Amino acid sequence: MNRGWQPLEEIVPVEVFRAEVMAWAKRLGVEPKEIRIRKMKRKWASCSSQGRLTFDRDLLRQPAPVRTLVILHELLHLRLPTHNKLFKSLLSAYFHEKYPDLPIPELPAAQDGGPKHGAPHKGPARVR
Ligand SMILES: [Zn+2]
Repeated sequence: MNRGWQPLEEIVPVEVFRAEVMAWAKRLGVEPKEIRIRKMKRKWASCSSQGRLTFDRDLLRQPAPVRTLVILHELLHLRLPTHNKLFKSLLSAYFHEKYPDLPIPELPAAQDGGPKHGAPHKGPARVR
Protein backbone atom coordinates (compact mmCIF):
# COMPACT_ATOMS: atom_id res chain seq x y z
CA MET A 1 0.00 0.00 0.00
CA ASN A 2 1.33 3.44 -0.84
CA ARG A 3 1.93 5.37 2.35
CA GLY A 4 4.33 7.79 0.76
CA TRP A 5 3.85 11.19 -0.74
CA GLN A 6 0.33 12.46 -1.11
CA PRO A 7 -0.86 15.55 -3.00
CA LEU A 8 -1.54 18.35 -0.56
CA GLU A 9 -5.03 18.95 -1.85
CA GLU A 10 -6.08 15.50 -0.65
CA ILE A 11 -5.21 16.35 2.93
CA VAL A 12 -7.79 18.41 4.78
CA PRO A 13 -6.65 20.97 7.35
CA VAL A 14 -7.60 20.36 10.97
CA GLU A 15 -10.02 23.28 10.92
CA VAL A 16 -11.85 21.86 7.91
CA PHE A 17 -12.15 18.51 9.65
CA ARG A 18 -13.43 20.23 12.77
CA ALA A 19 -15.99 22.08 10.64
CA GLU A 20 -17.14 18.77 9.14
CA VAL A 21 -17.65 17.38 12.64
CA MET A 22 -19.60 20.46 13.73
CA ALA A 23 -21.76 20.44 10.60
CA TRP A 24 -22.71 16.81 11.18
CA ALA A 25 -23.25 17.45 14.89
CA LYS A 26 -25.79 20.11 13.99
CA ARG A 27 -27.47 17.76 11.51
CA LEU A 28 -27.70 15.00 14.12
CA GLY A 29 -28.79 17.40 16.85
CA VAL A 30 -25.93 16.57 19.19
CA GLU A 31 -23.40 18.77 20.97
CA PRO A 32 -19.95 17.33 21.51
CA LYS A 33 -18.30 18.78 24.62
CA GLU A 34 -14.92 18.82 22.97
CA ILE A 35 -13.37 17.70 19.70
CA ARG A 36 -9.80 16.57 19.89
CA ILE A 37 -7.60 15.52 17.01
CA ARG A 38 -4.44 13.65 17.84
CA LYS A 39 -2.37 10.66 16.88
CA MET A 40 -4.19 7.45 17.82
CA LYS A 41 -2.58 4.09 17.29
CA ARG A 42 -5.33 1.53 17.59
CA LYS A 43 -8.51 3.44 16.95
CA TRP A 44 -9.81 5.85 14.38
CA ALA A 45 -11.74 7.69 17.01
CA SER A 46 -13.29 7.45 20.43
CA CYS A 47 -16.10 8.97 22.43
CA SER A 48 -15.86 9.50 26.19
CA SER A 49 -18.84 9.13 28.47
CA GLN A 50 -18.65 12.89 29.01
CA GLY A 51 -19.16 13.54 25.31
CA ARG A 52 -15.58 14.32 24.36
CA LEU A 53 -14.69 13.08 20.90
CA THR A 54 -11.17 12.22 19.87
CA PHE A 55 -10.22 11.61 16.26
CA ASP A 56 -7.03 10.17 14.85
CA ARG A 57 -4.91 12.67 12.92
CA ASP A 58 -4.58 10.14 10.11
CA LEU A 59 -8.23 10.78 9.27
CA LEU A 60 -7.14 14.08 7.72
CA ARG A 61 -5.57 12.13 4.89
CA GLN A 62 -8.37 9.62 4.43
CA PRO A 63 -10.97 9.87 1.63
CA ALA A 64 -13.99 11.99 2.47
CA PRO A 65 -16.41 9.02 2.79
CA VAL A 66 -14.12 7.39 5.38
CA ARG A 67 -13.95 10.65 7.35
CA THR A 68 -17.71 10.97 7.18
CA LEU A 69 -18.28 7.42 8.40
CA VAL A 70 -15.99 7.82 11.42
CA ILE A 71 -17.42 11.26 12.27
CA LEU A 72 -20.98 9.95 12.07
CA HIS A 73 -20.11 6.89 14.14
CA GLU A 74 -18.73 8.92 17.03
CA LEU A 75 -21.41 11.61 16.91
CA LEU A 76 -24.13 8.97 16.96
CA HIS A 77 -22.65 7.64 20.18
CA LEU A 78 -23.73 10.91 21.77
CA ARG A 79 -27.26 9.68 21.12
CA LEU A 80 -26.86 5.92 21.34
CA PRO A 81 -24.15 4.22 23.39
CA THR A 82 -24.17 0.82 21.71
CA HIS A 83 -24.03 -0.52 18.19
CA ASN A 84 -27.58 -1.72 18.20
CA LYS A 85 -29.92 -2.05 15.26
CA LEU A 86 -31.06 1.56 15.49
CA PHE A 87 -27.45 2.78 15.64
CA LYS A 88 -26.58 0.88 12.48
CA SER A 89 -29.60 2.01 10.55
CA LEU A 90 -29.09 5.66 11.54
CA LEU A 91 -25.41 5.45 10.62
CA SER A 92 -26.32 4.05 7.25
CA ALA A 93 -29.11 6.58 6.69
CA TYR A 94 -26.96 9.63 7.46
CA PHE A 95 -24.04 8.27 5.46
CA HIS A 96 -26.25 7.73 2.43
CA GLU A 97 -27.74 11.18 2.82
CA LYS A 98 -24.34 12.46 1.72
CA TYR A 99 -23.24 9.53 -0.44
CA PRO A 100 -26.40 7.94 -1.86
CA ASP A 101 -24.54 5.73 -4.30
CA LEU A 102 -21.65 4.54 -2.16
CA PRO A 103 -21.54 1.40 -0.09
CA ILE A 104 -20.41 1.95 3.53
CA PRO A 105 -16.61 2.04 3.22
CA GLU A 106 -14.25 -0.39 4.92
CA LEU A 107 -12.02 1.39 7.39
CA PRO A 108 -8.32 1.16 6.53
CA ALA A 109 -6.04 -0.79 8.89
CA ALA A 110 -3.48 0.86 11.14
CA GLN A 111 -0.09 1.73 9.68
CA ASP A 112 1.46 -1.36 11.27
CA GLY A 113 -1.13 -3.45 9.46
CA GLY A 114 -3.06 -4.28 12.61
CA PRO A 115 -6.75 -3.67 12.98
CA LYS A 116 -7.81 -0.15 13.74
CA HIS A 117 -11.07 0.12 15.54
CA GLY A 118 -13.54 2.92 15.28
CA ALA A 119 -14.59 3.10 18.85
CA PRO A 120 -13.46 2.44 22.40
CA HIS A 121 -15.80 -0.54 22.76
CA LYS A 122 -15.56 -3.47 20.37
CA GLY A 123 -15.25 -4.09 16.71
CA PRO A 124 -14.55 -1.95 13.67
CA ALA A 125 -16.63 1.15 13.19
CA ARG A 126 -18.02 -0.11 9.94
CA VAL A 127 -21.56 -1.40 9.93
CA ARG A 128 -21.86 -5.14 9.80
ZN1 LIG B 1 -18.85 2.65 18.27
